[in-house]
Amino acid sequence: MSGGPATSSPQSESQHVDCLIVGAGLAGLTAARRLASTGSRVLLVDKAKSPGGRLATRRIGAARLDHGAQFFTVRSADFAAEVETWVEDGVVDVWAHGFSDDDGHPRYRAVEGMSSIAKYLAGRLQSELLRPPVHASRAEANAVMAGADTWSVTYAAGSREPDDAVAVILTPPVPQCVELLRSGVVATPHLDDLEKIDYHKVVAILVTLDRSPGLPEPGAIQQADDPTFTFVADNQAKGVSDAPAVTFHCALELSRQLWPLDDGNVLAHIHTDMRRYLGGAAVSEVQVKRWRYAGPVEPRPEPCLVVAESPGPLVIAGDGFAGAKVEGAFLSGLAAAEAVLNNRR
Ligand SMILES: Cc1cc2nc3c(=O)[nH]c(=O)nc-3n(C[C@H](O)[C@H](O)[C@H](O)COP(=O)(O)OP(=O)(O)OC[C@H]3O[C@@H](n4cnc5c(N)ncnc54)[C@H](O)[C@@H]3O)c2cc1C
Repeated sequence: MSGGPATSSPQSESQHVDCLIVGAGLAGLTAARRLASTGSRVLLVDKAKSPGGRLATRRIGAARLDHGAQFFTVRSADFAAEVETWVEDGVVDVWAHGFSDDDGHPRYRAVEGMSSIAKYLAGRLQSELLRPPVHASRAEANAVMAGADTWSVTYAAGSREPDDAVAVILTPPVPQCVELLRSGVVATPHLDDLEKIDYHKVVAILVTLDRSPGLPEPGAIQQADDPTFTFVADNQAKGVSDAPAVTFHCALELSRQLWPLDDGNVLAHIHTDMRRYLGGAAVSEVQVKRWRYAGPVEPRPEPCLVVAESPGPLVIAGDGFAGAKVEGAFLSGLAAAEAVLNNRR
């Protein structure tokens, strides 16, 4: 993660903070900003090198491909107000108002790929706040444990020394949060319910081409009921890539069947179907990306869940709540920060 640290060596030094947030996807970044705006000392850790989580963009040669979330919609007033600032700052704009039909409802794209939203938010955390959160990347939390006065978060061997925090917000996909709680033997009546929250697997195929595939305007096809590909997008036509490059998202049932296969067999399986969308263009490179936790099968209706209040609030958030998707992650992150603040008042 980029951005100026608030201590001399945030990557390795143990911290004692008001709130530790696991996960620097949209939910974690949103919670961090809200809490830090009140003057709280916040530590934001992620196991990945860069922030964003499922706001994911990959470079292949000269091409840039979104391979997690492809676009987002806006329904709530809170998210609309946030997105307005993203638009003003030139980070996102309206890609289309539908894919086969114009339904008048804007679908937003990130101008430099979806991961740039996270990079922009991480930059704002550092520049706007009096007490910016400490960022630590490549820090894989492996347990959350209750101490006498604070929570203690430990990490996979070698990634980071344990940290202490008055409050903790967990934003990984819910099954991964449950693992963290179970590893730390956190007693909460919510564990059984949380364990029922399942996530869809999605296999994505990323393809660079020698020329445009000529997909219909706006350069993408969305087909929720197609048995092979539910979304096919030309990243160049979308405006995020200098070179022709197509992202395919396999349908849920097909993704389930492909999941155990190695990449070669995945590609052999979808090769003929894939070619139908390439307009005769030659494939330069192809990669397979597997999303084990693409999205919740059924998100919880509440915006976040406070699973323990002692020694301080322990909150689960992310797109498993608040309606899922990009907007749900934002709203859930905001709600988790409010839950921590309310607990303090
Ligand atoms: C294939 C695909 C297509 C999608 N399409 C769309 C779409 O078109 N529109 C839309 O609105 N949404 C879409 N989504 C959903 C959207 O991307 C997510 O809802 C949203 O990005 C989730 O944000 P989050 O912050 O809740 O979780 P994440 O983005 O998953 O963030 C969680 C973070 O936690 C980190 N983490 C996990 N475990 C640990 C650990 N133990 N220690 C430290 N860090 C950890 C991860 O590295 C990650 O950065 C799609 C998702 C996928 C995968």
